[in-house]
Amino acid sequence: MARYHNLAIPDIEKKLHTSSKRGLADVEAKKRLLEFGPNELEEKEQINPFAIFIRQFSDFIIWVLVAAAAVSGILNEWVDAIAIIVIVVLNAFLGFFQEYRAEKSLAALKKLSSPTSKVIRSGQHLAINSSDLVQGDLIELDAGDNIPADARLSYISLNFKTSEASLTGESTPVDKTILDLKGEAVPLAERTNMVYMGTSVAAGRGRAIICRTGMHTELGRIAGMIQNIKKELTPLQKRLESFGKFIVYACFILVAIIFLMEFWRGGEILPIFLTAVSLAVAAIPEGLPAVVTISLALGVSRLVSRHVLIRKLPSVETLGSTTVICSDKTGTLTKNEMTVQEVYSDDEIKALNCGVLCNGAQLVSGKIVGDPTEGAILVYAEKKGISKGALELEYPFVAEIPFDPVRKRMTIIRREGGKYIAFVKGAPDMLVDICALDAQAKAKILNANIDFANNAMRVLGVAYKTFDVLPTMNEAEIVERDLEFLGLIAMIDPPRPEVKAAIKECRTAGISTIMITGDHKNTAVAIGRELGITEVYARVSPEDKLNIIRDLHKRGEIVAMTGDGVNDAPALKESDIGIAMGITSTDVTKEVADMVITDDNFASIVTAVKEGRGIFDNIKKFIHYLLSCNIGEIMVMFCASLIGWPIPLIPIQILWVNIVTDGLPALALGVDPLLPDVMQKPPRPRDEGVITKELGILMLIQGAIIALCSLSAFAFVLFIEKEGLGRARTCAFMVLAISQLFHSFNCRSNKLSVFKLGIFSNMNLIYAFIVSLSLQVSIIYMPFFQSVFKTEYLGLNDWGLVILISSMPLWVMELYKLAINSPPSPSLRKRGGIENNNAQKIR
Ligand code: ADP
Ligand code: MG
Repeated sequence: MARYHNLAIPDIEKKLHTSSKRGLADVEAKKRLLEFGPNELEEKEQINPFAIFIRQFSDFIIWVLVAAAAVSGILNEWVDAIAIIVIVVLNAFLGFFQEYRAEKSLAALKKLSSPTSKVIRSGQHLAINSSDLVQGDLIELDAGDNIPADARLSYISLNFKTSEASLTGESTPVDKTILDLKGEAVPLAERTNMVYMGTSVAAGRGRAIICRTGMHTELGRIAGMIQNIKKELTPLQKRLESFGKFIVYACFILVAIIFLMEFWRGGEILPIFLTAVSLAVAAIPEGLPAVVTISLALGVSRLVSRHVLIRKLPSVETLGSTTVICSDKTGTLTKNEMTVQEVYSDDEIKALNCGVLCNGAQLVSGKIVGDPTEGAILVYAEKKGISKGALELEYPFVAEIPFDPVRKRMTIIRREGGKYIAFVKGAPDMLVDICALDAQAKAKILNANIDFANNAMRVLGVAYKTFDVLPTMNEAEIVERDLEFLGLIAMIDPPRPEVKAAIKECRTAGISTIMITGDHKNTAVAIGRELGITEVYARVSPEDKLNIIRDLHKRGEIVAMTGDGVNDAPALKESDIGIAMGITSTDVTKEVADMVITDDNFASIVTAVKEGRGIFDNIKKFIHYLLSCNIGEIMVMFCASLIGWPIPLIPIQILWVNIVTDGLPALALGVDPLLPDVMQKPPRPRDEGVITKELGILMLIQGAIIALCSLSAFAFVLFIEKEGLGRARTCAFMVLAISQLFHSFNCRSNKLSVFKLGIFSNMNLIYAFIVSLSLQVSIIYMPFFQSVFKTEYLGLNDWGLVILISSMPLWVMELYKLAINSPPSPSLRKRGGIENNNAQKIR
């Protein structure tokens, strides 16, 4: 049986009931989609809730606790043992919900980007979801596009190449043909008239008829190989992993010391062992990794509504360290709404005709489909009565050399009678060199070009050449030589209105903005001046971008860089944050990018930086909270033991405090609103950990305050009021839990007063406070819990004492914040210069 690569195009058309000119009819495509299913690879990975639940019990220390509880249960009272086991299970549920939610939100993030393809149906050019493609669909392929299914090429431009490394391992781009191949046993890598799902267009333009979709494609057959997307830990998560180990050891040592001291003092071995292990379980912040993942994932999904798609989780952290944003001009800083202002030519109609015939865009019922620069020419020409459709009939298409940002020009060859005409358009300053012009004419054109550019205009030159026989197209130089110059087309592309403010915001945040463009330097400078950008690179090639990043890196900068074309991929990889544009970027660019800006707007990049800083701040807030609380818990027990007091909290109380304080307030801090000063401080140094020296000291002090509160309540009831141990423990227990709830408000900012931020500006924290407090109070007033937790009723007096002491951490920190708040001006970084660049740099 003949395979698709053996068939000539007409046979393919017959076999698949389609047309290589007009594609499928829309209804037919819809019918096939229903019949054969979507063009998708089946998802392999699935979240397993059961496994997540089981994982909660994988901690050795939990089992030690359960065993200790069981043994003590056998010896004393079963109630204690069961209560502890119940709390352990409760703890596991808490961990399970956090982790399950984290996994869920990560999975949801993966689904956010659904790829689209360009298809021709009933002669209409459409963009549809790649999953809706069916056998027989005619697709259009441009440089940088991913190939959405297995397809037979029906048309290709000069130098059409694909990258097939992911499928065949071939690392250099493969040349393609549209001729049918002989022999059935042609290996995959040599079927040069076919293109395959999972590969991409490296250069050129082409069209192809889809032969196989979804799991029937070559990729589908080996699917699974490609699907396991690696779970990448962010630098913070990695650091937390090793830090977590440190905490575990530290806890064990402290707890062991407490155990030994109590034992030495003649305590009964089993109860003190149980106390020690409970303390270890409480003090080890096992929920931390899950809460970190949740805040990262929540932050990332919040960004989606602000037009930012994070593709790699670690970049959320890098965002907060960004010191330089390198942005494309066209479409990112400007609107990409081009309007032709003026045609500079002796023969305007002839110049416009050339611009229309050397053009890949279309006007579909007045709307531009394709490159806005080219579309602008079509719109202007239409106004002068020139229609692309009519001209194309007169001059049938023969071949093309597509636009590329290095050459900065393109050529289309068309037939006119028995002759061939090459229509060329491109950057004027480079075009004049391949035109037949004398020095004087050349100077005049270049002067006109500069005049336009000084007025922030984007300029294209047009030229043509007639051939008696079709030139060999292997070398562009043969065709693009001794051209006849026709004129200049100048257009405006206004800056986006919101960009100026965004650039200003960056400056206060210690981030500098650099404009990088392929456009003329005067155009770039003029637009830069309007926007307040002082550092501009013009007539840049994709390779220059790479050099610019390298120089910035030498200067120690953390660079975020935008890119759209397939040639920008290396630069995006090299940058610390590669940013692709949702509308204009090619698939290949998006794939290497860390982040995609869905509205192509520079202001969205700044939003991402701001949110990135905020997300990191929030992670810092709850780590600060959890650790300072745990330090407090350990200190209470440690100090009491050191002084020789009775143990202030019994094991089950310690475990309970851990549940009440670790869960909700930590999550609420993870979604704290952005601090008002988030963009008024310099970028965070990248190698700065979450726990800086200052934060470490602060956490120790705050932990000590929490411990002091609980201990003084304990001592006051026991030694001054001379009440029983049960009552003193109840007070210490209450104060330990409630002081942590008050302390959660401290963690919102280390500098700004909570009352300035607004107590109610994080309602989640208010709810967390209320719910946790109610749980804690119920322990005293529900008789059943009272007997389990060995608590006693507290009267109004006691409550006065408890609340007064518990709120101390808040008042102390407020006083401290008041004291430090003579606001110092943020010291923004000064920057040096960049050397060695081929691109023209203007300041
Ligand atoms: P940028 O995207 O930074 O504006 P480009 O690489 O798109 O830069 O454009 C660089 C130059 O190439 C432009 O100044 C223009 O003269 C020329 N140019 C841009 N688009 C086209 C096109 N479609 N056809 C021919 N020349 C073009
Ligand atoms: Mg461009």
